[in-house]
Amino acid sequence: METSIASSPSIHKQEIGDPSIHHDLESEDCAMEVEKQVTNVVVTEQKSQQEGDTSTLGSYVGPLTIPTSTRPPYDCTKHFTTETVFPSDEALVDWIRCTGKQHGFIIVIMGSEKCIKNRTPRMRFSCERSGKYRPFVKKVDGKEVAVKKRVRSTGTKKCECPFELKAVKGNDGWTVSVHNDTHNHPPAVYLEGHSYAGRLSAEQTSTVVDLSVALVKPREILTHLKVQDPENVMCIKTAYIVRNKYRVIEKAGKSQMQHLLDRLEKYQYVHWTRGNETENVTELFWSPPSAGEMLHAFPRVLMMDCTYKTNKYRLHLLQIVGVTSTEMTFCAAFAFMECEKTENYTWFLEKLKGMMDPNALPSVIVTDRELALMNAITNVFPHATNLLCRWHIGKNVLAKCRKMFDDKMWEEFICSWGLVVFSANVAQYEERKWL
Ligand SMILES: [Zn+2]
Repeated sequence: METSIASSPSIHKQEIGDPSIHHDLESEDCAMEVEKQVTNVVVTEQKSQQEGDTSTLGSYVGPLTIPTSTRPPYDCTKHFTTETVFPSDEALVDWIRCTGKQHGFIIVIMGSEKCIKNRTPRMRFSCERSGKYRPFVKKVDGKEVAVKKRVRSTGTKKCECPFELKAVKGNDGWTVSVHNDTHNHPPAVYLEGHSYAGRLSAEQTSTVVDLSVALVKPREILTHLKVQDPENVMCIKTAYIVRNKYRVIEKAGKSQMQHLLDRLEKYQYVHWTRGNETENVTELFWSPPSAGEMLHAFPRVLMMDCTYKTNKYRLHLLQIVGVTSTEMTFCAAFAFMECEKTENYTWFLEKLKGMMDPNALPSVIVTDRELALMNAITNVFPHATNLLCRWHIGKNVLAKCRKMFDDKMWEEFICSWGLVVFSANVAQYEERKWL
């Protein structure tokens, strides 16, 4: 029996981020622009070093350590100067965000007054690095008290960037104007991994959920979304977060076992459970919807094996595999069992027997010489022949007998052993076993 059984189908190791995803999504123009701006930074740095200026960019270690006035300004007027009249605020916001992203800046809505009576609707946009980092405060008896300083492994993004856009709604739609044209920080060369830029739209979130339900891996989901939208700068972590959030919503208020039973019910699996006195489930039997028909068609040979290791709930997984007339295998049933005792196996085999035609029960059952299972088989299927798994015997022979032979003799032995084991019939076996 060469079937290997996973210790638990429900436990998956989370994949780590994909290093093969490169930051190649910027447009060529943007890359050139960024390069030009980065070159400007270097030139300014060299110049200030020559002039003996101590506050150079070379010593720039974070937004909080250098006064903003020493940083080179980045003029974005031309990028945001447009005659376009935007028909809706969504179109306006989209255009501003896209334009900012193309040039390495994240533009966010700072404020909007769209529904105030007798006032022209207007919106203000700023760079996401505008403003200052505000430490946490909480209100105690109406007074604000500073909470113990948060331990951060990174600096704040905020650097009081003065960049600002204003948009006003006229009769035809929204128009935008640049109120403050400078950024006091260089543009981001790559936006991958950036929390704001990597946010997904509602449509993209629903795509991630749909693909996750169809068991598509996060890495493939990421590739799919990036092919659909080349400007998408999400990273694989976002796909994991959305997937996990969806799972949490789906399971809301249910234990893992209740959730599992719901799923078995939903997908029409045949299943039974058995609990202890504290009403915890200790045994679970389940069988795929198609297995019943397959067992009726091919009941003769069954192979059974239980995992050596247990899952995180310390349950063993038993798998039963059937064999078709074309020597293909099919999964007949599974069970999680608390312990590998005859009584547990008997309960499980009786459930399996209940699924089968009483006139077509298995005539051969292959096991790995699990004595408790063999006893249970004798109880439940007294007419079945119990055969041992060739693969398990081979493994034991290798483990126990290899040390008794030198290399040459081992080769001869294993060859003769193979002939005996692969005998087509009893006569051949009798003939070969004394060779
Ligand atoms: Zn800025």
